[in-house]
Amino acid sequence: MISLSERSQNVTPSSTLAITAKINALIADGVDVVKFGAGEPDFDTPDYIKDAAIAALDAGFTKYTPVPGTPELREAITEKFKRDNGLSYKPSEVIVSCGAKHTIYNIFQAICDPGDEVIFAAPYWVSYPEQVKLAGAVPRVIETTPKQNFCMAPDQVEAAITPKTKAILVNSPSNPTGTTYDVDTLKAIADLAVKHQIYLISDEIYEALLYDGATHQSPAAFNEETKAITFVVNGMSKAYSMTGWRIGYTAGPEDAVSAMSRIQSHSTSNPTSIAQKAALVALNEPQDAVEEMRKAFEERRDVICQRFDEIDGIHYARPQGAFYIFPDFSGHYGRTLGGQKVENSMDITDYLLNSAGVGVVPGDGFGADNHLRLSFATSSEEIHRGLDRIKKALA
Ligand SMILES: *Cc1c(COP(=O)(O)O)cnc(C)c1O
Repeated sequence: MISLSERSQNVTPSSTLAITAKINALIADGVDVVKFGAGEPDFDTPDYIKDAAIAALDAGFTKYTPVPGTPELREAITEKFKRDNGLSYKPSEVIVSCGAKHTIYNIFQAICDPGDEVIFAAPYWVSYPEQVKLAGAVPRVIETTPKQNFCMAPDQVEAAITPKTKAILVNSPSNPTGTTYDVDTLKAIADLAVKHQIYLISDEIYEALLYDGATHQSPAAFNEETKAITFVVNGMSKAYSMTGWRIGYTAGPEDAVSAMSRIQSHSTSNPTSIAQKAALVALNEPQDAVEEMRKAFEERRDVICQRFDEIDGIHYARPQGAFYIFPDFSGHYGRTLGGQKVENSMDITDYLLNSAGVGVVPGDGFGADNHLRLSFATSSEEIHRGLDRIKKALA
C-alpha cells in the first residue's frame, strides 16, 4: 500500500459535517427531522448583494484579480475597520481569502513552525485544532466552564504560555457557545500577548450578531502595541448570510499579511472575482439587512433559552451572540434511553435523532463531550417543535 502523508492521517474529519450527512440521509428516507445542526444563517443572501454579483458577471468581471483581493475591496475593508472597530489600517495590511476559514488557515501557515504552540479555549470551533496541526504546530487547549462563560481566564492563559507559544486565539462571540468575552478579560489576555510578544488572533466572524444591546470590542483597538501583534479576522458568511460565496479577510501585521499573500499565491490565488464584487457592495451599503437578521436571531435566542429552562437536568450559558446554544446534557448521561445506555454526547445525539427526530451536533468535536450544540438559525416554529420533542424524549 502506498502510504498517505502523516499530515493527512492526523486530520480528524469535521464532526459537524458527519452528523449533517446522517440527518440528511434520514430526511431523504422521508423521516421528519427538526434540524438544529446548521452552522450557517437560514436567510437568503440579500438581493442587493446578489445583484452586485450578477452585474459583475454581466460586465465580464470573471478573470483573475490580485491575489490578496481587489484594491477596491481591500480599501472597503479598511473603511469597515475604521467605521465599526475604530481601527486604522492600510490596504497592504489587509488580505482577502476564500472564507475566514481559509484566512485562519493561512495565518497558521504563515506564523507557525513545527513544534510551535497555539493557545485557545475549549469548547472550540472544530477547525482550530486541525488547522494548527496542519501547520505542524501544537494546540494548547484551555478548558473552560459555563460558569466562566466559556472564556479563558487570563491566569489560565498565562500558565499555558511557554517559550514555544506563537499565538493566542480568541473567538468572541463564540462558535459553539454563543458567549462573548468581557472587555476586561479580553484586555488582560491582549496584555499578555503584548508582554510575551506572541500573536493574538481574534476571530470576529460573529461580530454583527450580538444581543441585549451588547457592543463588540476588537482587541486590536486597545492600543498600538496590541494592534501590532493582532490579526483581526472577519468575513461575509455570518453577517450577510453569504456562506457559499467564500469571502473572508484579515487585517494584521504587514509582514505577516504579505507572507499570507505569498502562500495564497501558490494555493488558491485570489478569491472568486464576482464574490469580491458582491462583498464590496455588502460592506459599502447601509447595514439594514444585517440588523434585520440580527433581530430575528435575538428573538429565536430568547425562544430557545425559554424552552430549555423548562427541561430538567439541562444547564446552559446564555448566548450573547452568534446563533448557537451549547447546553450541558450530562445530567442525562448514565440513563437508559431508547433501550441504549447514554454515556456521551454522541450517544445522546443518536438517541435524539433516531428516537425523537431532532438533529443536534455532539459536543465532543468541539472539545466538550458533556454538551450538545444547537443552532437557532431556524424559525421559532421549528425551535418550538424541536424543543417539544427533546422535552418529551428526556422526560
Ligand atoms: C463560520 C465560522 C468561520 C468562517 O466561516 P467562513 O465561511 O469560512 O468565512 C470562522 N470561525 C468561526 C468560529 C465560524 O463559526
